[in-house]
Amino acid sequence: MSKIRVLADHVANQIAAGEVVERPASVAKELVENSIDAGATRITIEIEAGGRRLLKVSDDGEGMVRDDAVLAFERHATSKIRDSEDLAAIGTLGFRGEALASIASVARVELTTFVESGKAATRVTIDGGRMRDVKDAAHPRGTTIAVRDLFFNIPARRKFLRSEATETYHLTNLVTHYALAHPEIAFTFVNNGREVVRAAPAKDLRERAYQIFGAEFLENLLEVNGGDAQVARVSGFVSAPRDRRTSRDSQYLFVNRRFVRDRMIGRSLSEGYRSILPYGVYPAALLFIETPLEEVDVNVHPAKTEVRFRRQAAVADAVREAVKNALASGGYARPEEPEPHVMEIEEPIITASATATATASAPPSIQAPPQPRIDFIPEPSGDEIARDIEAMIQTAQQYQPPSDFQSAKSVAFNSAEKIAKVPEPESLSQNIRPLGQLDESFIIATDDDGLLLIDQHVAHERILFDKYRALEAERRTESQQLLVPETFDLTPAQAAVFDDLAPELEIYGFELMRLSGRTVAIKATPADLPPGEARNMLAELLDTVDAERKNSARETLRDEIAASLACHAAIKVNMPLAPEKMRWLIDRLLQTSSPTTCPHGRPVILRLKTKDILKGFHRI
Ligand code: ADP
Ligand code: MG
Repeated sequence: MSKIRVLADHVANQIAAGEVVERPASVAKELVENSIDAGATRITIEIEAGGRRLLKVSDDGEGMVRDDAVLAFERHATSKIRDSEDLAAIGTLGFRGEALASIASVARVELTTFVESGKAATRVTIDGGRMRDVKDAAHPRGTTIAVRDLFFNIPARRKFLRSEATETYHLTNLVTHYALAHPEIAFTFVNNGREVVRAAPAKDLRERAYQIFGAEFLENLLEVNGGDAQVARVSGFVSAPRDRRTSRDSQYLFVNRRFVRDRMIGRSLSEGYRSILPYGVYPAALLFIETPLEEVDVNVHPAKTEVRFRRQAAVADAVREAVKNALASGGYARPEEPEPHVMEIEEPIITASATATATASAPPSIQAPPQPRIDFIPEPSGDEIARDIEAMIQTAQQYQPPSDFQSAKSVAFNSAEKIAKVPEPESLSQNIRPLGQLDESFIIATDDDGLLLIDQHVAHERILFDKYRALEAERRTESQQLLVPETFDLTPAQAAVFDDLAPELEIYGFELMRLSGRTVAIKATPADLPPGEARNMLAELLDTVDAERKNSARETLRDEIAASLACHAAIKVNMPLAPEKMRWLIDRLLQTSSPTTCPHGRPVILRLKTKDILKGFHRI
C-alpha cells in the first residue's frame, strides 16, 4: 500500500501557521500589514488578555467584495502578486497569501468588510479553519478582523504563550513599529478597554516619534540622512552616545517601510558607533532604509522579517556612514578624522607603576565614599524599553496635538541636571585652566565659556584608548614581562572564544600561552596595564565576546580590546591629582579624537555656562 498522502488543507494551514503565527503579536503584524496594503488611513488595534482572548484590527481601507472575503482565507490566495515575475519587485507588505489562512486555522476568526461600491457589508466566520457562515452585515468602508481564542485547537502551542504582560509588551512594540513606519496613518491601540496609543496622522517621522515617545526621547536623538537612491537611502534617528541600551530592543529597523530584524543592519549601525560605544552596549535607533524594489529580496522567511540585499556590502557601508555622519554632526565625533597621530610614549606624570601604587592604597572599589557629592552624570538605566513604553503610554494618555511643536519641545528643558551639558568638541579651546578636584574624582576647571567638570577616569580612558589604537595601527605596542607568569582558568564558554581572541590580544602586548586543558598562562601584559588588572580584563573580554562579535569586523574587536585596556589602565576616581597631572590630562584629552565622550560612550566633560551661572544669580 502506498504511504504518501496529500494533507488536507486545514492541516497544511496549521503547519504553515507554525511559521507565520508564533504569538499574538505575529497575528497583529499580518493584520496591520494587510490594512496598510489596503490603503488604510486609520488603523485601530484592540486586544484583550494579551491578545489571546481577542485581537481585533479595524481599518478604513479599500475593503473586499463578498467573493474576495471568502477567497481571502484560501491558502495562497492573494491580490498582491500574479506571477513569479512579480516576486522580483514586491511593493506591498504581504504577497504570500497565507497569513489569513494560517491565522484562521488556529483561532476563531470573524471578518467584516465593505467596499464603497458594494450593496451590503459581508461577514465571514471561520473556526479552526472551517468556514461557519457568510452573511450580510453593517460596516463602513474598510475591514475589521476579530481573532478570538488563539490556538484554542492547538493546546501545545497555547502552552508556549507567555504571560499577558509579555504578550502585551510584544504587541505594543509591534504597534509602535508600524506607527513609526507610517506617520501618515492614524493609529489607535486599545488594551483591555483602555486606550494606550492614539496617534493622529503626522506630517513626518519626527512628529510621529514625538507623539509616541514624547519630547524628552526626541531630545536625545540625532537625525540620520545619508546613502544614495541607487543602492540605499538611509534616514531616521539614532541616539546620542550617552543613551545606552543593553539590548537591541530599542532599534527599530525598516527596509522599504517593512519592519525587519536584520543582523547586518544592526551590525552596521553598531559599526557607526565604533570607538564611541563598546560592543555589548547598543544605541537606540529608528532607521529607514529605502532601496529600489529589485535590490532587495523580501521572500526569505514566511514572517517576512528577514530580507536579503543584492548589494549587501554597499548597503552596510551606507548605513555605517550615515550613522557616523549623524554622530559627527551631533558633535560626538570629529568628522573626517585625520589618521590619529601616535602620542609620546613616555608619560611624564602618570605611569603604570604610579597608577598601580596609587590605586593599591586607594579603596579597592571605585565607589564614591559616603559623603555628599555632586552627581552630574545621568546613570544609564537598565530597562530602557520598559521605560520607553511607559513613557509612550503616559504620553499617549496626555497627548494633545501640539499647536506649536517647537514650544512643546522646550517645556521638558527645565530640570536642573540639564543645565550642565556635554560641550560641543569644537567649543573646547586650549584655554582650559584646572582649579582643583571635586571628591578627588572630577577636575574642576574654567574656560572661556564657563565652568567645566572633567571626569578624570573617563578622560584618561579616552586618552589611553586613542593611544592604544594608534600604537596598534603602527605595531608599536609594548609589553612588560611578568617575572612569574600568572595562570588563569577559562570557563568552557571562555575557552570557545579564547583562540580567536588571543592573537588580537597579543597585538596589544599580551603574551598568552594555552597550557593543558583550559588553563592559560599570562607571560606578559601591555606596558601600562597594572599587572593586577590583567586577569580581570581578560575575564571581562572573554565573557563579552560572543558569537555575534566573533563574526564582526576585526577592527571592532580591536576597538573593544583597546577600550577595555584603557579602562583598566586609566587612573581611577577617588584619587588625588597634583595640578601638573590635571594639566597633563587636559592637554592630552584635547588632542584625542573625541574629547567629550569616552570609548564606552559616557560623557567626559560637562560644562556649566557662565550665562547660566549669571541667570542662576539673577544677574541677567
Ligand atoms: P497577502 O497579504 O500575502 O496577500 P493574506 O492572507 O494576508 O495574504 O490576505 C489575503 C488577501 O486578502 C490579500 O491579498 C487582500 O487582497 C485581502 N485582504 C486581507 N486583509 C485585508 C484588508 N484589511 N483589507 C482589504 N483586503 C484585505
Ligand atoms: Mg497579508
